[in-house]
Amino acid sequence: MAEYDYLVVGAGLFGSVFAHEATRKGKRCLVVDRRNHTGGNIYNEDIDSIHVHKYGPHIFHTNDKMIWDYVNSFVEFNRFTYTPVANYKGELYSLPFNMNTFYQLWKVKTPDEAKAIIEQQASAAKNGRPANLEEQALSLVGKDIYEKLIKGYTEKQWGRRAVDLPAFIIKRLPVRFVYDNNYFNDKYQGIPTGGYNKLTEGLLSGIECRLDVDYLQNKDELDALADKTIFTGQIDEYYRYRFGHLEYRSLRFETERLEIANYQGSAAVNYTEAEVPYTRIIEHKHFEFGTQPHTVITREYPQEWKPGLEPYYPINDEKNNAVFKQYQDLSREESKIIFGGRLAEYKYYDMHQVIGSALAKAKKELE
Ligand code: UDP
Repeated sequence: MAEYDYLVVGAGLFGSVFAHEATRKGKRCLVVDRRNHTGGNIYNEDIDSIHVHKYGPHIFHTNDKMIWDYVNSFVEFNRFTYTPVANYKGELYSLPFNMNTFYQLWKVKTPDEAKAIIEQQASAAKNGRPANLEEQALSLVGKDIYEKLIKGYTEKQWGRRAVDLPAFIIKRLPVRFVYDNNYFNDKYQGIPTGGYNKLTEGLLSGIECRLDVDYLQNKDELDALADKTIFTGQIDEYYRYRFGHLEYRSLRFETERLEIANYQGSAAVNYTEAEVPYTRIIEHKHFEFGTQPHTVITREYPQEWKPGLEPYYPINDEKNNAVFKQYQDLSREESKIIFGGRLAEYKYYDMHQVIGSALAKAKKELE
């Protein structure tokens, strides 16, 4: 009999939720991670009492009461609402695209006036179903917003032309005809009080975790410890790239501590013009209404992923989805491995979706 029921590879949200659920059902789990900490990309690094979102800003939001109650059972959430500001060539605009933005751009005051302008600007682009991000954006918000707030940011973020990107990416952002700068439409939203590590600690409480362990370099030996493996890393790496590399977008972060209390007055300012090399500046203390006399900011520079860098975003265009499908077909043949999470499912998941996926897979497995 193996020492553990499950070997969980990756201590991020998917792995932590799966391990928690399995442990709750009396299973013996071992969690391994190649990083020196748990939590995956939701990990917060404490810099002088400010919880720094080390792998990019994470704002928890969901429409699903069950998932909201689930995370709240581990840690209380604050009332943070994400209202990033866009800076285009020194002019500030409200995000997401709403009546405040339309007023700032066109001085229109009513929804009908805003709709008329968008309609007029979009009509030129409208001919059937939007085939790419540019067409989708133009049809949703028209040319002015596309050119000032979307095109530059998107092409920096993805390193690809907007006409070569899938339309669904821009549909993540709400467009609304009320004065409301809330970036999300979801019913529930917040940041864990005391930071995201509290959520991870709650999920992994009482579960054995081994850090600085590279699974793929010690695969046979680690697999032998458990009956089944839960793999949350890159699926193409798992299969040694036999169908070729999947593409990912990576990020480089430049973080600095400043001896001022408040640098930009917002958790996030997006720099939407192409000429500024970073996409956004995050001021971490504002996620938790921090009152420290100092602050920590991070500039986020997108870059193409290559081995050795962190893969943050899957690039779900047709070419990559077709390659992924080949890996997915292989993974479906496996009886001793479960694949899950943003990297193994090659999906642009938000946190609540990762949790949903992990709970569903755990339920199916443990029932
Ligand atoms: N986006 C944009 N302008 C912005 C913010 C977002 O054009 O100011 C587009 C961009 O293509 C981006 C997508 O919307 O990749 C999704 O943005 P989101 O904020 O959801 O990205 P994330 O926080 O996951 O990086």
